Amino acid sequence: MAIATINPATGETIKVFEPLKDAEIASKLDLAGRTFAQYRQTSFSERSQWLEKAATILQQEKADFAKIITLEMGKPYQAAIAEVEKCVLVCQYYAEHAPSFLADVPIPTDASHSFVRYQPLGVILAVMPWNFPFWQVFRFAAPTLMAGNVGLLKHASNVPQCALAIEDIIHRAGFPPGAFQTLLIGAPKVAAIMADDRVKAATLTGSEPAGASLAAAAGQQIKKTVLELGGSDPFIVLESADLETAVATATTARMLNNGQSCIAAKRFIIVESIALEFEKLLLDKFEGLKVGDPMQPDTDIGPLATPGILQDLDQQVQTAIKTGGKLLTGGHPLSHLAGNFYPPTIITDVPPDSAIAQEEFFGPVALLFRVPDINAAIRLANATPFGLGASAWTNNHQEFEQLITQIEAGAVFINSMVKSDPRLPFGGIKRSGYGRELSIQGIHEFVNVKTVWVN
Ligand code: NAP
Repeated sequence: MAIATINPATGETIKVFEPLKDAEIASKLDLAGRTFAQYRQTSFSERSQWLEKAATILQQEKADFAKIITLEMGKPYQAAIAEVEKCVLVCQYYAEHAPSFLADVPIPTDASHSFVRYQPLGVILAVMPWNFPFWQVFRFAAPTLMAGNVGLLKHASNVPQCALAIEDIIHRAGFPPGAFQTLLIGAPKVAAIMADDRVKAATLTGSEPAGASLAAAAGQQIKKTVLELGGSDPFIVLESADLETAVATATTARMLNNGQSCIAAKRFIIVESIALEFEKLLLDKFEGLKVGDPMQPDTDIGPLATPGILQDLDQQVQTAIKTGGKLLTGGHPLSHLAGNFYPPTIITDVPPDSAIAQEEFFGPVALLFRVPDINAAIRLANATPFGLGASAWTNNHQEFEQLITQIEAGAVFINSMVKSDPRLPFGGIKRSGYGRELSIQGIHEFVNVKTVWVN
């Protein structure tokens, strides 16, 4: 796959980038290794000041960054602005809290003095996807840099200008050259970088095959990984739910980012007694959404990021229909438009035990399922290989505990859509990956938890 900016709304190739040559990769690795030796000795207060400065740059130049995001991956411009603003928050959050998250933890034992000290590991590789091209990187970079590690970014090949802009922001913020570097490389180069002695650990956000491949390469070297992979999140609506709010939130939760979010609600599991009403209301919402130029302020849904994603999604939709699914709206690419546009689509009646019902639909497509009761809803929610997030709607407080306890996912949101928040840990179980980002748990992933005993 070429490293290039290709406008997904028009198909136009804007700029093609030359991938780094092996010698250039080697010199960046060398710089990263040398920088770590110095950078680990900087104080929390210096790192916090630099990260605060990064937040200021993001805030002041958010319009420019949002344009690059929309140009390269097609999300509506206002959503791109919101993404940059969220990066501001994560930088401020770790600038403020990292010193306490990483402070020594005294633990009374029979030693005269025993405690835990958190220390940086070294060079950490981040392999990142295009769907939140700024947010995914800053939620890695902010805790990693605060912990005293240095970062190497291998971003998705379709967002090179985002990757370079992020490197530039971090440099301009005052971090030493080499504390954070972008590597413009294709995926086949990742395994060799993982094997390099200077690289101590890695995080990958993306698909299952990419995660498995990186984890295998890391495993060969006994190096730690964090994997944030796909999801097919359930959105359960039970009888006592506030239906209007649930439907409005269901629409946002499915359509955010043109439907290309790992934590998007993808399978809507509705109890029989309210299913028909839910379907009608959702259909109205979906048909009211405006698909088109993502730079226009009234556009709800922009193009999918690449022609390949469009084809894969359409293939899944046709398979779902062949398997018995009933199409309520959408269902075919908008081929009269030049870019990768797919309409909001609803499919009901897909057999829950079919292979296609197990897949992640990465685009504006909702699968609707009917169930008799809460037990069947939870069974169906859990009947996928994934376990990222889940949203459940009910006003019966006795059902809260059952949903929270029995749903197999890294997060359960009751009467709300699943979202990430710097203050809360984020990550999955099952084939959605392992490890956590954000919050105190996120900053503890890439540190040496050193036990100290003094007699
Ligand atoms: P992808 O193909 O796996 O790409 C993600 C990153 O991995 C890109 O930088 C890609 O580089 C790289 N990559 C691909 N194959 C690789 C390999 N064999 N070894 C090392 N690196 C490799 O993912 P995608 O399809 O673009 O992204 C969508 C997926 O990401 C969905 O499944 C979505 O749910 C998941 N996702 C998860 C989260 C989460 O937090 N859990 C968040 C966002 C997205 P190239 O671009 O050069 O191929």
